[in-house]
Amino acid sequence: MAIPALMQNYGERTLTLVRGEGNYVWDDSGRRYLDAISGIAVCGLGHCHPAVTAALQDQAHTLLHVSNLYNIPAQEQLAEKLVALSGMDNVFFSNSGAEANEAAIKLARKLGNARGLACPRIVVMEHAFHGRTLATLTATGNPAAQQGFAPLPEGFLRVPFNDVAAIEALAAQHDDIVAVLVEPVQGEGGIRVPDSDYLLRLRHLCNDRHWLLMLDEIQTGNGRTGELFAYQHAGILPDVVTTAKGLGNGVPIGACLASGVAAQLFGAGSHGSTFGGNPLACRAALAVLETLENEALVERAASLGASLLQQLRVQLGGCEAVHDIRGLGLMVGIELDRPCGELVQQARAHDLLINVTAGNVLRLLPPLTLTDSECRQVADTVSTLVLQFARQAA
Ligand SMILES: *Cc1c(COP(=O)(O)O)cnc(C)c1O
Repeated sequence: MAIPALMQNYGERTLTLVRGEGNYVWDDSGRRYLDAISGIAVCGLGHCHPAVTAALQDQAHTLLHVSNLYNIPAQEQLAEKLVALSGMDNVFFSNSGAEANEAAIKLARKLGNARGLACPRIVVMEHAFHGRTLATLTATGNPAAQQGFAPLPEGFLRVPFNDVAAIEALAAQHDDIVAVLVEPVQGEGGIRVPDSDYLLRLRHLCNDRHWLLMLDEIQTGNGRTGELFAYQHAGILPDVVTTAKGLGNGVPIGACLASGVAAQLFGAGSHGSTFGGNPLACRAALAVLETLENEALVERAASLGASLLQQLRVQLGGCEAVHDIRGLGLMVGIELDRPCGELVQQARAHDLLINVTAGNVLRLLPPLTLTDSECRQVADTVSTLVLQFARQAA
């Protein structure tokens, strides 16, 4: 039911979740669901992980907020930890994914302006998702999401995802490109996994042309794909990487990490945020990174993800309505032959929360803490529902 006091930007919501613990959430009637979407890749440690809760409780009665007018020890510790784990040089903290990407876009613009370019351009991808602020919406490859929001900022060029040759062709036409912005695996766009040498080829291309390679790891980061950051599968280092979602396990925090030239572009006053990197959010993120390590959850995401993909491929093999089953770590997509939004409701009737993105891709983003038997349960329920859905077509 629509609530008049809320803007109607989210469409109809039919489920009220009131409590969470581990890999489960409960609705307002007391019914329990296995959560295979994790608040859209946010609660990677499961709900209300005790380490995060303890850190938040401790910080909540110590100091919540002081602003970036002052030193913030937890922010400094988190920065050092992220830099050590990522191989990047430094970090700017924001409150969301879109804001982390805004920082990345501003870094690219700063570089372009320093090079004397009137309109420095960033190469972005079809089906990309980078957020809902004006610049990140423009970078997003979804015309429907942009509809009605003109004028959109200039300075973006779009090419197909997973197509290095298309970027080379652009480079021949434009001498004002400064950066490539890309997701290592496209999330909202339908769990699109590029060729395994894509990032390495982009790295070479950007090196040759003195462009920044900027990776949006807002969804793929924080262990989700079986490495802390997905670029670590490719053995490369980006110039800029953004993350958010899983970093705070539900506490809003984003990060824009930079290396090399990109790490030196912002001087005092060039960017900022009132809330960004506040003590509460940084304590949560520190607890998340420590827990990923202590519980070996990044390795776990890799092995669980492989096993989930394998089970789905066995159970759905030969089903004609299934066009593709793909993923990396615990980012898994099943592409069907037609829109399949109704599967969300059907899964709910089986006490399972899933998601459908890009119209016809069933998306699974379970917590990294999923057990083997819960993983089998996800695979079994999803396979049953997909096979039933396929039969309805025939
Ligand atoms: C979710 C997401 C964003 C936007 O993050 P918000 O916190 O909603 O602003 C940007 N990029 C990617 C890849 C995402 O998955």
